[in-house]
Amino acid sequence: MKIKFLGAAGTVTGSKYEIEHKGIHILVDCGLYQGPKALRELNWAGMDDVTKYNSVILTHAHIDHSGYLPCLVREGFRKKIHSTKASFELCKILLMDAAKLQEEDADFANETKHGKHFPAEPLYTQDDAESALNLFAVHEYNQWIDIGQVMSFRFIRNGHILGSASVQIRYTHNEQPRIITFTGDLGSGRSQVIKPPEKIYETDFLISESTYGDRNLKNLDEEELAALIKRVYKRQGTLIIPAFSVGRTQEILYIIKKLQMQNKISTQLPVYLDSPMATKASVIYTKFPSELKLNEKEPLAENFFHPVNFRISESTDESMLLCMSDMPKIVISASGMLQGGRVLHHLRAKLPDPKNAVLFTGYQGQGTKGLLLKGGLNKIRIHHKEVDVEAEIVTLDSLSAHADSNELMSFYRNFKKAPRMTFLTHGEMNSLGALQYRINTELEWLCTVPQVDNEFNLD
Ligand SMILES: [Zn+2]
Repeated sequence: MKIKFLGAAGTVTGSKYEIEHKGIHILVDCGLYQGPKALRELNWAGMDDVTKYNSVILTHAHIDHSGYLPCLVREGFRKKIHSTKASFELCKILLMDAAKLQEEDADFANETKHGKHFPAEPLYTQDDAESALNLFAVHEYNQWIDIGQVMSFRFIRNGHILGSASVQIRYTHNEQPRIITFTGDLGSGRSQVIKPPEKIYETDFLISESTYGDRNLKNLDEEELAALIKRVYKRQGTLIIPAFSVGRTQEILYIIKKLQMQNKISTQLPVYLDSPMATKASVIYTKFPSELKLNEKEPLAENFFHPVNFRISESTDESMLLCMSDMPKIVISASGMLQGGRVLHHLRAKLPDPKNAVLFTGYQGQGTKGLLLKGGLNKIRIHHKEVDVEAEIVTLDSLSAHADSNELMSFYRNFKKAPRMTFLTHGEMNSLGALQYRINTELEWLCTVPQVDNEFNLD
């Protein structure tokens, strides 16, 4: 058995791992690099001989785990892409949207002739995304599925977003059973919307994410969030919440609704969702009540994600009008790390006025505008214009969809015996180093941090 780290090695995006056993090659995740340009350019490098892969197993729908699938198909892959049912539903909107963005970017580069290549080509098209979607095979959690008669795999609920899973791969070595476990993006168990990760007790090898390996997050202080909303309302300002369309948005809408029900915030303040993708994702969430925590809570059973005075802004025109409006409101919009999307227009309009506020609720990667703004920059460039930052900037990391350092350690402590080797991926250098140190010293496990394209023989 061999494993090769094709992405998310020393960074948080581009998740892609190859395993090979008895001539069968499998990809676990097939994500896009996101963030700074130097990373995004790696998406254009192509992969060697994608036809060798027998299948792809997908841990969850986020683009940094699934967004390379249309490229893979464009390069000639025609086998199955295994996922949970909910991941497939989410991929339908996420992959099509990613393809549309790629096409729009290429069109824009051609119109303005600002790109390096002319004519600019999209990384992939909506046709490629559709071809990838046609290859999906969906499975329930916890069922072992056979691959090529030499391996089997199963999905285990891991509480990161709807449909997300850890993946276990089972095979035999010298007639002894062995298991490789990929954590995927591990949830914290603090989500108020989806069920917590299931415990895993056995593995021979562990490939773990480490996004927050170097820090612990506080539990959500709902009073703090309520106070922020009240403060902004009193100032008659706008509260902008940049959020990932899938996961964060639903969590925030649910909590706002809860605060309204508890009379902790006014229902007079309108709550706008300005992200067509988040709107679609919310609908998909409600189609999988068995995965949600909140279906037992009667008063909230319907319209989980619709607070009082909730408004959806659909078209670009509606979004632009909303940007111009100066009435007090909450606006939830993507992208979560300010990499693009409608949220940038809201920020450009609202950052210069101290009555407004921006609330960060999730991970902000290196080299993103989100990290700069969160870090206290007082001027920021948006759409090639310098914008003064006078608005209040608030961070509530506790809403993140990733396990923190202590939660990762407790997840590891469930294993009955030490894995033969633990590989840390999906983290920036500080997080990887800190978590490796804790694993070495507190658990006394063997642990390594692979670099991109490193290959390991697991025999
Ligand atoms: Zn994720």
